[in-house]
Amino acid sequence: MQKGNINVQTENIFPIIKKFLYSDHEIFLRELVSNAVDATQKVKTLTSLGEITANTENLKVEVITDKENKKLIIRDNGIGMTAEEVEKYINQIAFSGAEEFVEKYKDTDQKNAIIGHFGLGFYSAFMVAERVDIITLSQKDGAKAVKWTCDGSPNYEMEEIEKSEKGTDIVLHVAEDSLEFLEDARIDGILNKYCKFLPVPIKFGTTERTEKEKDAEGKEVEGGKEEKIVEDKIINNPSPAWTKAPSDLEEGDYKSFYRELYPMTFDEPLFHIHLNVDFPFNLTGILYFPKLKNNFEMQKNKISLYSNQVFITDNVENIVPEFLTLLHGVIDSPDIPLNVSRSYLQEDGNVKKISSHITKKVADKLSSMFKTDRADFESKWEDIKIFIEFGMLTDEKFYEKALKFYLIKSVDGKFYTLDEYKAKIEGNQKDKDDKLVVLYASDEKEQHSFIAAAKNRDYDVAVMDSALTSHVVSKLEQKLENTSFARVDADTIDKLIQKDEEIPSKLSEDEQEGLKPVIEGSIEKEKFNVQFASMSEKDQPMIITQAEFMRRMKEQQMTGGGNMFGAIPEMYNLVVNSNHPLIVEIANESNGDKKKQLVDQVVDLAMLSQNMLKGEALSNFINRSVDLIK
Ligand code: ADP
Repeated sequence: MQKGNINVQTENIFPIIKKFLYSDHEIFLRELVSNAVDATQKVKTLTSLGEITANTENLKVEVITDKENKKLIIRDNGIGMTAEEVEKYINQIAFSGAEEFVEKYKDTDQKNAIIGHFGLGFYSAFMVAERVDIITLSQKDGAKAVKWTCDGSPNYEMEEIEKSEKGTDIVLHVAEDSLEFLEDARIDGILNKYCKFLPVPIKFGTTERTEKEKDAEGKEVEGGKEEKIVEDKIINNPSPAWTKAPSDLEEGDYKSFYRELYPMTFDEPLFHIHLNVDFPFNLTGILYFPKLKNNFEMQKNKISLYSNQVFITDNVENIVPEFLTLLHGVIDSPDIPLNVSRSYLQEDGNVKKISSHITKKVADKLSSMFKTDRADFESKWEDIKIFIEFGMLTDEKFYEKALKFYLIKSVDGKFYTLDEYKAKIEGNQKDKDDKLVVLYASDEKEQHSFIAAAKNRDYDVAVMDSALTSHVVSKLEQKLENTSFARVDADTIDKLIQKDEEIPSKLSEDEQEGLKPVIEGSIEKEKFNVQFASMSEKDQPMIITQAEFMRRMKEQQMTGGGNMFGAIPEMYNLVVNSNHPLIVEIANESNGDKKKQLVDQVVDLAMLSQNMLKGEALSNFINRSVDLIK
């Protein structure tokens, strides 16, 4: 029996580990199972190098709960350790200054960092155990089995024992305050979270005792109890789709892997991207484009990050650009430093490279889909456009690439790239200053009369109806030369695209001045600004418009664009068509009551066509209409 002192600088490192890693207690199991998996992988490597001869067929890890004895066992048939190795890897843990470090980070969210930083993986067992045994037999020829025991103080005991199977048992004597870790459901949950895709089979079993017991020598005691592991089940898929070559997978494999990742999601993904890079960094993974729902906050952060098939986190913020957090799937890279803080991650060179690589891959995939099957791409457009717009707004490189496949849908139902659309409208939609004006509608039904007015001039109207439209058109205006965007209801159609020829106004300036106060008497003055415009006789007598710039600012403010003006008031223009026969008639009406009645009626019709006539105003309108018909 050897007794010794674990080489730590402080007497009480274990209480510190226990206390400050509190919120993350469950990760002890990830650490121990990962060590066990590493041990099995080492058997493979050393066997292939000819350094040991071992059976590599049935490598596995078992997690066994034993409630009766309050034990949790992590068992592997991996490489094992000799006494010297236990001495070297377990006893001589080098964490000089650990206490200082723990002190520094105890209040932050960087508790995981402590574990990785000091190779405390194994010692995290003391977060939940009052005593830990290592029972291990090395695969090396002639190795002797050893048992190491430590109760959480820096003192340990080590002795030679008998063990028939090569490999390691880590036995946790679970502490009273951690008995939850003997519950099957709890362990099942943790294994499912962290170990679902580890590369060797992970079995989970529960120990039960029947009548045959063994004595100290391992012989059966007559009439004693026998230990048996029941409900032994494999909880993981050791070769998940992302670890395979894309050429070995079919469409159906990707879909079933999606279901494996998100058993509670019923929608099929739209398409996927298989990432497979080994230079200049290692990165594998599969990203899926989900069908986005309106509430896209809910769908964010569904990408899981793995390191060599060990689950690390499903919060990939700062690791991938924000717009990509809308995707689902898995990224696996041993090159992402996992045990450091998030702010550090942002600055990490590898992370930046990986992030821009993923962005490029996503853009390339979209571009190739567009090129190879445009009809299919168009059919998916409504589902993916918000994602593409988000990317264009937040990532310059993505924006540049997206210009080639960003689609504009016309009210006629056809899709155009930006270049195609420009070519389509260039002949007709340039104003007198040679500026190209793209007209768009955000709601075909509500803006029907404006769309009709545009069509009367043979103009095309694009449908731009996403939550990000106001941001996108601002961005495109900045980038595209001599092009502006205007929503069809932003002004009268002739003002939206101003041509040289002006229609002379039938109503004189004086007549307009006379009519204006009457109209102002029919509306809320703070909300509407009355203007006269010399429009076509065929246009409506009055229309309500909302200036493009103000509306855009307001929308951008609502979708988190922020601006320097504070709350923007709701303001509209009431545009009076000074050429419309009805307006001329009203201006010439000598009976004051009749004049007021007609103005009220025409104002209400304009309100009605914008869906702005509500409540009492609507009732008044209906009563007045009935009177007029009588
Ligand atoms: P890390 O895994 O970061 O090196 P750990 O404290 O988790 O730190 O483990 C220290 C070392 O102990 C490992 O590198 C490995 O050499 C050895 N070890 C731990 N668990 C096992 C195991 N189940 N089988 C064989 N060796 C192990």
